[in-house]
Amino acid sequence: MKGDLTGSCLCGAVRYTLRDGFRFRPYACHCTDCQTRTGSAFSEHMLFARQDLRIEGELDSGLYNQPSGAVSTIWGCARCKVRIFAESDQRDGFASLRCGTLDRSAEVVPAAHLWVSSKQAWLTLPDGVPALSEQPRT
Ligand SMILES: [Zn+2]
Ligand SMILES: [Zn+2]
Repeated sequence: MKGDLTGSCLCGAVRYTLRDGFRFRPYACHCTDCQTRTGSAFSEHMLFARQDLRIEGELDSGLYNQPSGAVSTIWGCARCKVRIFAESDQRDGFASLRCGTLDRSAEVVPAAHLWVSSKQAWLTLPDGVPALSEQPRT
């Protein structure tokens, strides 16, 4: 997705603008952590340069120690608790957007599907999109 992007939490107390800049293409993650964190079947993430994000409204944060040893700080609306983005202590300068909070979330098309080994069985993935059983090794 190109250009400036805008979005908000559910209640509207937090709005954000993600300025055009360096960002990766969005992906879907079907890991069981993402199923738990979203209360849903999978999550949609997009990595972006943290300096490109402008937030209006009050955020609060949560912490999660990932199995890899990384520590995630999850930022969301202080009022409705919808998560907007997360930062990892292993990825300085970058953050991961929760793509469903975008105003134009209908335009988010995952460029890849990760952790399909734990994908919900009823969900059929589109042809021609990379699907990895776990996540890429870096
Ligand atoms: Zn809210
Ligand atoms: Zn995941």
